[in-house]
Amino acid sequence: MLLHLHPQSTEEDIRETLSWLAAHNNEPVYLPGAGSGRIVLLAPNPDCREQFGLLPGVCKATPLFSPYKLAGRESCPDDTIITVGRIQIGGGEPVVMAGPCAVESREQTRLAAQMAKEAGAQILRGGAYKPRTSPYTFQGLGRAGLEILAEVGRELGLPTITEVITPEDVPEVAQYVDVLQIGARNMQNFALLSAAGESGKPVMLKRGLAATIEEWLLAAEYILRTGNRQVILCERGIRTFEPATRNTLDLSAVALARALTHLPVVVDPSHGTGRPELIIPMARAAIAAGAHGVMVEIHPDPCSAKCDGSQALNLAELKTLVYEVNATGKLMASLATERMEKR
Ligand code: PEP
Ligand code: MN
Repeated sequence: MLLHLHPQSTEEDIRETLSWLAAHNNEPVYLPGAGSGRIVLLAPNPDCREQFGLLPGVCKATPLFSPYKLAGRESCPDDTIITVGRIQIGGGEPVVMAGPCAVESREQTRLAAQMAKEAGAQILRGGAYKPRTSPYTFQGLGRAGLEILAEVGRELGLPTITEVITPEDVPEVAQYVDVLQIGARNMQNFALLSAAGESGKPVMLKRGLAATIEEWLLAAEYILRTGNRQVILCERGIRTFEPATRNTLDLSAVALARALTHLPVVVDPSHGTGRPELIIPMARAAIAAGAHGVMVEIHPDPCSAKCDGSQALNLAELKTLVYEVNATGKLMASLATERMEKR
């Protein structure tokens, strides 16, 4: 059930309505937006049905058909923009997140962050807890990695993102970084999704290795239903029969997610392809498909990387990527303007 609010409804109206709905077990969630926004009832109480349209500030009550009660455009037609420091994700300009697969040392992270900064990337990535396929490979520096990432990010003025792999780690990780990343292998770790949501931090949710788009968006609902509206979707490739690339980057999922949801969508062409020569073309294609940004792996010395060195970009490649992502973003914006003018 969706309650549409009068544009003139007051904060007091909305507060009163929300507390009445909660007291009568409707699980209301307020979504600010155009006008005064809307209230979604996650579990509408049938005994209250007659009252919904009469509550303070409410102009009408309509059924909600989308399975994506909070992520779908039905409840929130306008794009969500997430602010991280001075960066906006989901606004007009594409965002580039770059950094090493894993934080290996202070020196390596600082050099990678300097590359990111020099090339014009806006957010620094780096894994401290690494969920690796083999338990015998480098698993990340843990808390020491978080400290390094936070310190280097602060030093260079770059907001940071890192993966969190257990619900128990969420409060600690949230103290160190600006954005929490849920990795592909944890997309349906529902306890982790809820804990990440409850941190109140922006959460980037990677699509699972073999997840359908519906499963991915329903996973986003687990975060959103905690009251945290700052969810970024990340397409990172899915498992298919094709061995020539590490994964199959599904850019149709980007265009579809943009149509179905109001959430920002970004693409990780590094894990999506596993091949440096494909990362720049796929980053351009991602922006052309409607992505709000890309996340890529870089390394100051890829040959010595403890993790994913073979897909790491060097400084020159990262500069080209940032330039071409921005140029594609401008082209997309001017095509959108032309389309509007023709209407
Ligand atoms: C990562 O970005 O560090 C990572 C492990 O990616 P994914 O979860 O997409 O495999
Ligand atoms: Mn990696």
